[in-house]
Amino acid sequence: TTNILEIKNIKRHYPVSSGILSLSKATIKAVNDISLEVRNGETLGLVGESGCGKSTLARLLTGLESPDSGTIFFKGKAFKDWDSSKIGTMMQMVFQDPYSSLNPRQKVGNIISEGMRINKTGTRLEISKRVEELLVQVGMRPEHAKRYPHEFSGGQRQRIAIARAIAMNPDLIICDEPVSALDVSVQAQVLNLLKKIQTEFALSYVFISHDLSVVSHISDRVAVMYLGKLMEISPTEELYHNPLHPYTQILLEAVPIPDPTIQTADVSIPGDMPSPISPPPGCPFHPRCPKAMDICKETPPMRKEIKKDHTVFCHLY
Ligand code: SF4
Ligand code: MG
Repeated sequence: TTNILEIKNIKRHYPVSSGILSLSKATIKAVNDISLEVRNGETLGLVGESGCGKSTLARLLTGLESPDSGTIFFKGKAFKDWDSSKIGTMMQMVFQDPYSSLNPRQKVGNIISEGMRINKTGTRLEISKRVEELLVQVGMRPEHAKRYPHEFSGGQRQRIAIARAIAMNPDLIICDEPVSALDVSVQAQVLNLLKKIQTEFALSYVFISHDLSVVSHISDRVAVMYLGKLMEISPTEELYHNPLHPYTQILLEAVPIPDPTIQTADVSIPGDMPSPISPPPGCPFHPRCPKAMDICKETPPMRKEIKKDHTVFCHLY
């Protein structure tokens, strides 16, 4: 198979059980019928405003959460048919917060080697040599294995998290806002490290961020999400030169150049994002869309492939 990950029509809705809303059986449609694939060796960027469902999607992709409906295939086999500990070594995650994601009571060497120790990939000596190699591969020093996470900066901690992620030679890493908590000057270094190890380890990435400039710096293709749905998927270059969806066009106006040293706030576009509890009918973007037509208020747009690999969900096409 040429796709390491394939998701078909997945939905994840959360019941809202507190207060008045429980009477109306409200649900948050965090991920609302999404299909896409991650190809072997590529970086698929996933971009959207906070609250668009991208972190829920990340948890579904790693199996930390199960979808209400739809199927996720990893290497051509449905999640439910995998031994979950096998998936755990082949698929890893790097999280946003390098402070809470590393156990403060464990030495760096123990943090990085946890998977290797559990899976008994070698003798103690072999594993500690491997930890030292991994530290060097992520731009740290071998002796850092004996220190604790709090002795390092945010950028260094993210390097440690990356070393832990690659320790078991995974095939896929889900990166959920991995540079958002870092200073702008450090962001580019961590992105470049991710690119370097992608080549060295033949990795595929799903790279999730609210920041389109960061996403475009690292991604081969970009998927744009809004209120639990996909709006557009395209190769990165193509998306920049020929954005089709009005939402993507507005996002790009806010970020004209794919340069990670330009920090953007959470993308700001006119109007608030409607609540995912009661997303608007029709096209979810219609209350904010400058090009909305009557049909947009009633009928959800279907998937349209405008040219090879460039897909949009919009009634303009
Ligand atoms: Fe705008 Fe309609 Fe396209 Fe939605 S479907 S983005 S409302 S033009
Ligand atoms: Mg999030």
